[in-house]
Amino acid sequence: MTDRIHNFAAGPAILPEAVLAEAQRDLMALPGVGMSVTEISHRSKTFDAIIQGCEADVRKLANISPDYHVLFLQGGASLQFAMVPMNLLPAGGKADYILTGSWGKKAYKEAQKFGTAQVAGSTEADNFTRVPEASELKLDPSAAYVHFTSNETIQGVEWKSEPAAGSAPLVCDASSDIFSRPIDVSRYALIYAGAQKNLGPSGVTLVILRNDLLERVPKNLATMLDYKVQAENKSLYNTPSTFGIYLMGLTMKWLVAQGGLEAIGKKNAEKAGLLYHAIDASGGYYRPHAKPAHRSMMNVTFRLPSEDLEKKFVSEATAAKLDGLKGHRSVGGIRASLYNAFPRAGVEALVAFMGEFRKKNG
Ligand code: PMP
Repeated sequence: MTDRIHNFAAGPAILPEAVLAEAQRDLMALPGVGMSVTEISHRSKTFDAIIQGCEADVRKLANISPDYHVLFLQGGASLQFAMVPMNLLPAGGKADYILTGSWGKKAYKEAQKFGTAQVAGSTEADNFTRVPEASELKLDPSAAYVHFTSNETIQGVEWKSEPAAGSAPLVCDASSDIFSRPIDVSRYALIYAGAQKNLGPSGVTLVILRNDLLERVPKNLATMLDYKVQAENKSLYNTPSTFGIYLMGLTMKWLVAQGGLEAIGKKNAEKAGLLYHAIDASGGYYRPHAKPAHRSMMNVTFRLPSEDLEKKFVSEATAAKLDGLKGHRSVGGIRASLYNAFPRAGVEALVAFMGEFRKKNG
């Protein structure tokens, strides 16, 4: 591999080297096809095999039943902020939103443009350092759905299990922790995720939706924003992100070869555990953002004693080939994203760097 460095970016993020190597090897011509994947029709037999293979691996990994559609859309998770209420929130209906960070808040604000979105729980008063207790949720039994964000990428706050949402269909933005651990899809009505963290490159949005939801889709939605059209056309109503789906397919194949979600979940827990241990053992020098029970395995967020030290930390880390550690501009501090493809050796390198930095700047 040519001089790859440790990439802690929050997304687009690190992809498995084996995936990049295969894509590079086959970029000029897919074996037996004689053309690049970027040059073939999305209606060709070759692409059909690619998208179907990707879907089959997604289904295998999360044990998704035929009761669900698996879609590969565009527009990122941000477009799902609008598509979810457009398709699932009937005129005069209400939707519950549980807010545990910046992305959930954005989803809620977007939904307000399409109908009555209400906050059923929020930890904003606690600076989004945790998810709410079940007793703090005020769920509306008549809600068309309950929306939550399984992992808040900016704050580094993650649900350890689904919120108790009662009987309302559960809708989840799983952009930054999808397939990082086992998931029981049968508990959800709809799951969506931008691919650019754990699934592949940007440009593809995975949507897993229960078939019966399509009955709710109102008539006369813009064609491209209509889940029914997308499902009936198997994500091929128009030209999808063919290269993105190809790379996602390779990433899913890689994930299956890693042993699936159970195995990757164990590795992810170990990686995050190493880093949180280093933070906790620093005598308060490194201060974690999230409360212990709500810490993200994917995005580890923490502060240093001052903003000047944080700047120095990021710049010296970058020089030491530990890239992408600057926290999101809205919260500051440090954020280390440890997605599926991120190697344990990178976490060990960061932990060693943190020890040295504290010694020199303590
Ligand atoms: N939700 C979450 C949890 C995210 O982390 C992000 C992107 N970082 C988004 C939504 C927005 O995703 P996109 O850029 O794909 O629209």
